[in-house]
Amino acid sequence: MAGAKIRLCVDQSLGVGQSVPLSEAQAHYLFGVMRLAPGAEVLLFNGRDGEWLARVAPAGKRGGSAECVERTRAQAAPPDVWLLFAPVKKARTDFIVEKAVELGAARLLPVQTDFTNAERLRRDKAEAHVREAAEQCEALWLPEVGDLQPLSKLLAGWDRARRLFWADEATTDGEGPGRSSSPAALFAGMPPGPAALLVGPEGGFSPAERERLRALPFVTPVALGPRILRAETAALAFLTLWQAHVGDWRGDWA
Ligand code: SAH
Repeated sequence: MAGAKIRLCVDQSLGVGQSVPLSEAQAHYLFGVMRLAPGAEVLLFNGRDGEWLARVAPAGKRGGSAECVERTRAQAAPPDVWLLFAPVKKARTDFIVEKAVELGAARLLPVQTDFTNAERLRRDKAEAHVREAAEQCEALWLPEVGDLQPLSKLLAGWDRARRLFWADEATTDGEGPGRSSSPAALFAGMPPGPAALLVGPEGGFSPAERERLRALPFVTPVALGPRILRAETAALAFLTLWQAHVGDWRGDWA
């Protein structure tokens, strides 16, 4: 693997000989902070064209470019899991976004629930966090960040081929109708398939939401242990469990 080389996420297409202009921030980071010399090697990716070895060329004080030399990794897709989360306080939402990229998710969908208390979610900021996290964790894809939308609307248009696992804080683990499954038991042995994980806000889900979710055939309630987790802990734990049992942590990446 490329070890210590700096990875940069860019918008432009990547290909042999392609010269990619660097943003002011990227040029400042490479030449001002990291003190890279002309011709130094970096890795570029854009979420579409794989990862490329490139050589940098500074230009002036705040600019520069990088020229693609060869492809180091082919494009790969993330595991087909979406994270649906109710935005919480800013720093905690940033945490959810960052960790979801590191743990692996194909889409991040902020949902407005009855008890969602965050004003709004800055999509551009969330996308910047996605890029930073992808640069750092060696991901090749950039999960798409959706606009904040009402949970009810999302459920109404849901594609039933995608199973929706719902982190339901209100029930204990157990058997029988209306009881949540424990994720380890639930996910173990499950064949890979499109999935989505739903985590609620600090206030949890309302009785009306709970009733609706329980009645939907494509929804499976899941209990994440005996304690009440903060929303960001629940998101992280839920994705971890799914990745370990159904996703790309099962060892076949090696
Ligand atoms: N205020 C609520 C807790 C909300 S925790 C209460 O006191 O009941 C925020 C979200 O994290 C929940 O909506 C749920 O999706 C998830 N969560 C937290 N702990 C959980 C658990 N033990 N099992 C399943 N989901 C949990």
